[in-house]
Amino acid sequence: MIRDPTALDQEFDLLVVGGGIYGAWTAWDAALRGLRTALVEANDWASATSSRSSKLLHGGLRYLERGDVGLVRKALVERERLLRLGPHRTWPLHFVVPATPGARYRGLPLALGLWAYDHLAPPGLGERRARPWTGHEVLGAAPFLHPGTTSAWTYGDAGTDDARLVLELVDGVLRAGGVAVNGARVTRLVENQGRIAGAEVACDGRNSTVRARSTVVCAGPWAAQVAGLDPGSVRLTKGIHVALPPLPVAGPWATEDTAFLLNHPTDGRVFFLIPWYGMTLVGTTDTDTTDPHEGVTEGEIAYLLAGVAAACPGLGWGRGDVRSAWAGVRTLLAAQGHASAISREWSLVRRPGLFASLGGKLTSARIEAERIVDAVEDDLGRPRTPSPTRTQPLPWCPTLPWPDACAEAIRHGQAWGWSPARSLTALRRHGQRLGTLWLHLEEHPEDANLLHPDLPLCRGELALAAQNMLLPGQDPLARTPVGLLVGNDVSRGTAQPEAGPGPGG
Ligand SMILES: Cc1cc2nc3c(=O)[nH]c(=O)nc-3n(C[C@H](O)[C@H](O)[C@H](O)COP(=O)(O)OP(=O)(O)OC[C@H]3O[C@@H](n4cnc5c(N)ncnc54)[C@H](O)[C@@H]3O)c2cc1C
Repeated sequence: MIRDPTALDQEFDLLVVGGGIYGAWTAWDAALRGLRTALVEANDWASATSSRSSKLLHGGLRYLERGDVGLVRKALVERERLLRLGPHRTWPLHFVVPATPGARYRGLPLALGLWAYDHLAPPGLGERRARPWTGHEVLGAAPFLHPGTTSAWTYGDAGTDDARLVLELVDGVLRAGGVAVNGARVTRLVENQGRIAGAEVACDGRNSTVRARSTVVCAGPWAAQVAGLDPGSVRLTKGIHVALPPLPVAGPWATEDTAFLLNHPTDGRVFFLIPWYGMTLVGTTDTDTTDPHEGVTEGEIAYLLAGVAAACPGLGWGRGDVRSAWAGVRTLLAAQGHASAISREWSLVRRPGLFASLGGKLTSARIEAERIVDAVEDDLGRPRTPSPTRTQPLPWCPTLPWPDACAEAIRHGQAWGWSPARSLTALRRHGQRLGTLWLHLEEHPEDANLLHPDLPLCRGELALAAQNMLLPGQDPLARTPVGLLVGNDVSRGTAQPEAGPGPGG
């Protein structure tokens, strides 16, 4: 990846503001359709919400509970598409919903909900379909659950590495001939004859005007501000995650891809235990905020730990087991009621020459980016091009069929004494670029050692992360699992998201 701010000094068909998941999908889709596209990000790629999600590609069982059938259907179609187009970046997760004492999701309503969830997804789920288990069976596989667990259902969803997905899409923008520059903050939109005609951008101590026939603001929590919309058009809510040790699951159906959906004993809210890079992510919370930089509080950590203790007393996790904690901020379309009850729908606001993306989900960002680029093509008076991202494999998708790519990675990893699981983690991170890591290790064999004893990443990955880093002076590990899982210890006072952008400084 080459960072070239001077490339912004030309006229574009489309300027995309914000390098989170919405900006990255929009810019990749547009560049593939042949639009002259620029993507600018104030801070680092995925430095805001898009590295702080629960990392799920899911329809959302709880949205179904609220009757958001259209939203769930859209997300399930995208989940299946992304599993197909990016087997390295997305992976199936097997969720267990145990009927622990007091669990709200259980019995016939749960069975019906999961039946609907499976049937809203495209056909072909196979073994990923929901199915029931007896209390004996589930306690055999997850003995840490409350001993009063009477039964369970399992169902299929999917996981990803959100920040890595963004980085991969940004690389796709560059490969498709677009311009992508981080550390480039939009300070003001530029107007010409009643139409937005680009933006002023501050980058590397220099201010310049990026001229564009159409501008799309995908600035997440800052979108309303950057696009000059009424701040009341969105509602910001904070969600935290904590990283805890791996789950000691055992049994023929419980594997390292087994996750848990639980209800919190105090308010019945859904929260998850999700395996990620050998650790367990527990989250999330949902509280109103006005500050996109708000950090994690001890009370929020205690809330999540209390939820785990009630359903999974056998884990015995306490504050001392928390390796890391971080907060992210959702941008929701303004509505009354409890934060958890507000729809996760997405909306596109239009002004002459300007579009603003508000709300949405990591899972559905691609289809919504497709709609943004459709709208931009209409705005530019171009005939609509079918969206290439509907069918195009992700930029780093291995060229070999996925089972062959896995076998190849495992074979290479054996030369370094790696377990198959560790080699597959490397394949998931690097995709078709894994060869670069093998070449690096041949030259620097000492870099095959683990970067951190608890994480399946080697030192060579740090070297590659530094090479791919586009923003001088930033921590190359910040957006890697190392940065999140061991670098955000609230007890050391670093749990605040790093200083984010905000328009105009
Ligand atoms: C706790 C939590 C858990 C979630 N879990 C899930 C999940 O499991 N699955 C799911 O599908 N969704 C999930 N979501 C939702 C999902 O993460 C968001 O919908 C998505 O990340 C939003 O992406 P975005 O691109 O709109 O915003 P962001 O990722 O916030 O990106 C906006 C970018 O704009 C940049 N920017 C801001 N101002 C400027 C400026 N002036 N100039 C240039 N750049 C600027 C910012 O630096 C930022 O990088 C979760 C959200 C939260 C908070």
